[in-house]
Amino acid sequence: MVKKILILLCIVSSVTCSGHGTSVILSNENRPAYKYSCNPKADFPQMVFIPFFKEASQILPNCETYPKHMTAIALLIFYHKWVEWFGDRNYAVRGMLEKVMIRWGTEKKVSKRGYTLEGELFEGRNIIGRVESESIIWVWQGYSHRISQSALMHELVHLALRAKNGHPDADHEGMKYRGWTNAHSIMIVEAKRMLQAFNL
Ligand SMILES: [Zn+2]
Repeated sequence: MVKKILILLCIVSSVTCSGHGTSVILSNENRPAYKYSCNPKADFPQMVFIPFFKEASQILPNCETYPKHMTAIALLIFYHKWVEWFGDRNYAVRGMLEKVMIRWGTEKKVSKRGYTLEGELFEGRNIIGRVESESIIWVWQGYSHRISQSALMHELVHLALRAKNGHPDADHEGMKYRGWTNAHSIMIVEAKRMLQAFNL
């Protein structure tokens, strides 16, 4: 009976019944590595895999920064907003998320040089995030110890652009490097609001 209803539902609503609908963004299995969580009694930093993002991992300075379910939701929200704004036809951004490594920091760093969001060069300033390689980002834990108040979404945009265009566009909305547009800055604001809605 249930089977009949399901078949009927498929026909009536044209739902894809082969297993994965187009709304499925991540279809990874629940890998054994995901069962390892932060151990408050072991030495730090610790590496913990982020559930449902294949090889994605985070390096934790303590167990509060951040529990893996929080980081996983943050990555889901990032991808949701990215696809909404820019799409991901060849899955380059999804592929990036599936191998990203997030190194969380408890203190800000000083950068010798970098660019403001408007593309102006600065020297010797405090920074709250940094791209370290094509898959590694360092992210300060954020104001009030909130992921929504950290630079995680910002650094992920750099990596997403690198995955798409071959370079992370260091000067953001500036004209020296191309890729980052005002839409990317707005997307980050929206993603952060969504994180807040999830109390992150
Ligand atoms: Zn940046």
